[in-house]
This record gives sequence, C-alpha cells and structure tokens, in this order.
Amino acid sequence: MPLTLATTAPGKPEIFASVQGEGPSAGTPCTFIRLSRCNLACVWCDTAYTWHFTGDERLHRGAATYDRRANQVTLSAAEAAQQIIALGQKRLVITGGEPLLQAGALAELLELLPDLSVEVETNGTTAAPARLDIRIDQYNVSPKLAHSGNPAELALLPRMLGHYSADERAFFKFVIANPGDIGEVLALVRAHAINPKRVFLMPEGIDSASLREREQWLVPLCLQHGFRMSDRLHIHLFGDTRGT
Ligand code: SF4
Repeated sequence: MPLTLATTAPGKPEIFASVQGEGPSAGTPCTFIRLSRCNLACVWCDTAYTWHFTGDERLHRGAATYDRRANQVTLSAAEAAQQIIALGQKRLVITGGEPLLQAGALAELLELLPDLSVEVETNGTTAAPARLDIRIDQYNVSPKLAHSGNPAELALLPRMLGHYSADERAFFKFVIANPGDIGEVLALVRAHAINPKRVFLMPEGIDSASLREREQWLVPLCLQHGFRMSDRLHIHLFGDTRGT
C-alpha cells in the first residue's frame, strides 16, 4: 500500500533529518516523514500544503490553496524506508497532515524499520490500529481548540481523548493563541482525567517574535497549572519552511 507524502518541491517527498522542535522530545535528532492529507482544517495550520488543495473552500488564514499534484507524492513503503535509513537517525517522527489517516501503510513502513524508535504527531481524532500501535513509542496528541476554527464535534472526540489520556505514551500539546484559551484546556484536562505532567502548552505562531511574545504569558499559566511549555525550536532556527 503506497504512502501519500507531502513534498518539499514537486516530486520530492518531505523526508528529512533535523532536531525535533516541539514537545517532550524537543532537541532530539530525528528523521521526519510528513504525510499528506488531514481530516481537520485549522485556520492557522502551518502545513496547509498537506490538505488545502485547489477547490477546497474551507477557511485558512493564508487564503492560498495548493496544487495537489505538486504537493503530494506517493512512495512505496520500501522506497520510504530506504530514504529514512539513508538519513542515519535512530528516531523517526511521523507527522502531517494527520498521519494516522494512513495507518495501514505506516504499519507496513515500520515493519521495514524495526530498529527505530518512533513518535507520531496526531490531532487526536483517531487511534492507531494494533499493528501500528505496537511500534509507537510516543504519541504527541494535539487536540484542536475552538480558535482552530474546527467544530468541536469533529476535533474533540471524547472517546479518543479518553483513549489517549489512558495511554502513558501520549503527551498532549495544546496550541494556545490567547491567554483565555486556558479555560478550554482546563475543561478538557478535567473531563478526560489527563495527567497535567503530560500536558504541554505551545504558542501558536510562525515567527520568532510572535512565539516569544506569547511565551511571556504562557510561562505563568504553566506555573499556575503545573503544565509544561513547548517552544517551536524549528521556527527560531529555520523559519516557517518545509523540510525543517
Ligand atoms: S490538524 Fe494539524 S495538519 Fe490538520 S489542519 Fe490542523 S494543524 Fe493542520
């Protein structure tokens, strides 16, 4: 079953080595594979080229839509594994888009990469089937709050939030745009008994200045509620660019 990947340029799959920029593994050297397609449509999504294709009229603040042929490429599991192995890292980050939409193909891929530790970045609306789940060392779950523009009935599924809350491998990374967003986070943490030690608050933003400004008021919120703060290292290091 082929994988549908995002591209860094037409025909070039977005598979690259870098340090993880967000969440509990920030700073860790990893290989990244970015899958195309998403089941949500966040207005501030910084990877809209994975889903906001020509003809898609859902709102995105960038207004741009992307040509599907230039922004998607298919690879077999064997081809993707070969490119991942060639980058020589011990840890793989599977990101998107929403990568779990391609769970079957991912399971095939990971069966070819038995020596790698694996983390998956997901919006938390779906769970990995057993064949894939058994290979995952860490889930970075990023439930989307109201400011994402997604209806709660699509983005915040109680059964899925409970599923990840009960899984010690799962960390929750909430994207925060305004101090008032904390109310929604607290309600979700309470409703789904999420361990605060596994909760990260991360500023929304695609430039260093916005991230730094928001971190000023995120730190006191973390202190008050016992949450952790995540920066977005890749933005500071490389800007908002593909393949980083
Ligand atoms: S869930 Fe992630 S990939 Fe999908 S639209 Fe939102 S931010 Fe973008």
